[in-house]
Amino acid sequence: MKILKLPLIVAVGLISLSAAAQKKPINTVKASFPTSVNRPKLVVGLVIDQMRWDYLYRYYSRYGSGGFKRLINEGFSVENTFIPYTPTYTACGHSSIYTGSVPAINGIIANSWYDPEYGRVINCVEDTDVKTVGSTSRAGEVSPKNLLSTTITDELRLATNFRGKTISMSLKDRGAILPGGHTSNGSYWYDENGSFITSTFYMQQLPDWVADFNKVKLADKFYKKNWVPLYPISTYTQSTTDDKPYEGLFKGEKSATFPHSFTEYIGKDYGKIRSSPYGNTLLLDFAKTAIIAENLGSDNFTDFLAVSCSATDYVGHQYGPNSIEAEDTYLRLDKDLEEFFNYLDKQVGKGNYLFFLTADHGAAHVPGFMEENKLPGGTISNRDFAKNLNTLLEAKFKIKNTVIAVMNNQVIFNKPLIDSVKADFEAMKLTCISWLKLQKGVADAVDNTRIAASTLPQIIKERVTNGYNARRSGDIYFILQPNWMDAGKTGTTHGSWNPADSHIPLVFMGWNVKAGKTNNTYYMTDIAATLAAMLHIQMPNGSIGSPIPELFGK
Ligand code: ZN
Ligand code: ZN
Ligand code: ZN
Repeated sequence: MKILKLPLIVAVGLISLSAAAQKKPINTVKASFPTSVNRPKLVVGLVIDQMRWDYLYRYYSRYGSGGFKRLINEGFSVENTFIPYTPTYTACGHSSIYTGSVPAINGIIANSWYDPEYGRVINCVEDTDVKTVGSTSRAGEVSPKNLLSTTITDELRLATNFRGKTISMSLKDRGAILPGGHTSNGSYWYDENGSFITSTFYMQQLPDWVADFNKVKLADKFYKKNWVPLYPISTYTQSTTDDKPYEGLFKGEKSATFPHSFTEYIGKDYGKIRSSPYGNTLLLDFAKTAIIAENLGSDNFTDFLAVSCSATDYVGHQYGPNSIEAEDTYLRLDKDLEEFFNYLDKQVGKGNYLFFLTADHGAAHVPGFMEENKLPGGTISNRDFAKNLNTLLEAKFKIKNTVIAVMNNQVIFNKPLIDSVKADFEAMKLTCISWLKLQKGVADAVDNTRIAASTLPQIIKERVTNGYNARRSGDIYFILQPNWMDAGKTGTTHGSWNPADSHIPLVFMGWNVKAGKTNNTYYMTDIAATLAAMLHIQMPNGSIGSPIPELFGK
């Protein structure tokens, strides 16, 4: 809330010591109170999928003046923001940012998990009760049903008695659905057929503006350009050379080098755009269209636009943080950001919108790159772990297939089967833990129900505990050594507690934000509480975070 110039008014009252002024001093002061709560017209949340914190500075000298540089210099950067749980996956990140909570409470423990209630692996946003809207595919059979708490977007809807609007969007279903919460007015994600779609959870029919946007098939326009580097390739000195065996290939490619040809996908394969910087451009074009079409930020009730750029994640997985492809993706995103900020300035007005940028997680370096440079790191195989554990348990306990899966750094047992034969589950878990601890790349393994009693360092203990949901998580958690991951020969991933994955950018800009930065440690879970405090609304109902004091001048 803005501080009004009360002292001046009081001072004027005191100087003119007339009888009339002395009779009504209280009214004079009262009349100058704000008549309503001061809020921005629009909140824009931008999640950059897989953006490591260091990318703000890694390519800083190559950024233009209106994108990341403007954000860092005009905004307030919370430099040491960490994810307070593990595993650090997309669904958990988007849920945590918007619920201010952790998987233990909001229920989103991974992108997919073995759910004992379903008896199978489910997608985090799966909902068999709803249908796709906007396409004939099944990509719309999703909703926020599995998210167990409210989001900051829900709370803004509640605080305005549903008069403030929420629109959310992403190339990924989870990147759109989880930020939009349970009360979104429209959440849209990208279907492989080249359209933005939604589900009957939200509406029965796409709005005209979405249908019109889809008709243009903008992806073809981008495909025509192919993916060529923005600048001469020799200027990408921040990255390793283009051709490395540990970079992933597009289908049909012989080497992971520029130019990456896209023309053959025109009219055919609309999914490929996700793995190029054009995926971000496409989404931000869609976001700009939404601002006009949905009249966002145009009335007295604060609206919320939640955007999640996923192309950075697809590119990151394929090429890794030290690739020319990653550098080029961020240089192009920087240009897209500049255009987006200019658009917001024009449409909503500079100072009328509150903008924040963060990430759902970072990423480790490619294990092959680490090895090449004599740095520690490597790969394990969840599939092999599961196979070996089943062999071991069968030999010792004479029961087949007691391990259902090894996923999300956890071992999941078939408990109904173990119960039915009255096997010693505790002994089975101990056998697996002992085996896991001996495997290359494994730092430690613990019984998920005995995390507190384990010898894990406090910081890891807390993150594993926050990530453990009693109804949905597995039985044993194993922590890998730094830069070790379940991966193949190319590309990289994320999911660990380590800083590469858990140290994320967090920068606020615009309405009521003073330029600056803090190096104090904060958490992803503080984002929603900070927004709630700035907007003077209740924080989400699973929130465990606190407002970041420096944003309030403290
Ligand atoms: Zn992600
Ligand atoms: Zn390359
Ligand atoms: Zn990812």
